Amino acid sequence: MSKIRAENITKRFEAKGHRPVTALDGVNLEAREGEFISLLGPSGCGKSTFLYMVGGFVFPTSGTITVNGRPVTGPGTDRGITFQEFALFPWRTVIENVAYGLEEKGIPERERLEIARRYLKMTNLSAFEGHFPKQLSGGMKQRVAIARMLAYEPEILLMDEPFGALDAQTRSIMQEELMSIWQQNKKTVLFVTHSVEEAILLSDRVAVFTARPGRIKEIVDIDLPRPRSREAELGDKRFAELYHRLWHSVKEEVDAAAAAGTDNAVVGSPASGRYGSRRP
Ligand code: ADP
Ligand code: MG
Repeated sequence: MSKIRAENITKRFEAKGHRPVTALDGVNLEAREGEFISLLGPSGCGKSTFLYMVGGFVFPTSGTITVNGRPVTGPGTDRGITFQEFALFPWRTVIENVAYGLEEKGIPERERLEIARRYLKMTNLSAFEGHFPKQLSGGMKQRVAIARMLAYEPEILLMDEPFGALDAQTRSIMQEELMSIWQQNKKTVLFVTHSVEEAILLSDRVAVFTARPGRIKEIVDIDLPRPRSREAELGDKRFAELYHRLWHSVKEEVDAAAAAGTDNAVVGSPASGRYGSRRP
């Protein structure tokens, strides 16, 4: 049985005074239990929208999404999500933010704090447990959001550009932590990223989205052996082939988005491995 199954998903946003936007048009995607799938595509093609629909925060205009064989009707503790804007509770300290999901699960306070501290340690935030979000840098807030998601141990991780605001070194450490958590606990992961390199390093399969309205253009199997490391992959011939293929596939869609004159058109350089983007 597939863990996540999206069938023929279309999403149209219609708001008074705004032109209607068809964000997604006929998306089909299936994730097997324990699979790591990255979503790549130009800004504005509907990646966040898709992730939030699996999370149960946004609903498709047509089509169905099931998780564990049941239609998604709202958020649930089986799915953990990090939003692109990593919304933290501003009135809660770092540790209270991380312990939030555990509170929802009815775990007693002492145990809650113990678990929260474990994940704060992992994300290198132990010294900041009593701080409030406004006292933290963007990268630190992002790590709090990741710790909060991991702390209540959902089966499914939905991550929206989770490492985008991190410096290269922290990003690399977080990628390794995520891989080890994923491997030890057999989580199913949907991971949105702008980085082709990151997608290859982490994923079993990479789904490339077309320019808006987003459809899945192709799904590429990442047939590199595990465990993987950044150092090993960078000199690897197969890695280079996959990088080349995916980079061109995404670039074609980025160019299409630019030609269509969408306000989400982006520019980027292959060398950076990142399509420098304006946040939608
Ligand atoms: P991505 O994450 O791939 O950059 P998004 O899913 O954020 O793309 O957005 C897809 C499209 O849907 C964009 O054109 C965006 O402006 C539009 N959109 C997203 N959320 C809303 C909303 N709540 N209301 C209206 N339009 C929206
Ligand atoms: Mg997005």
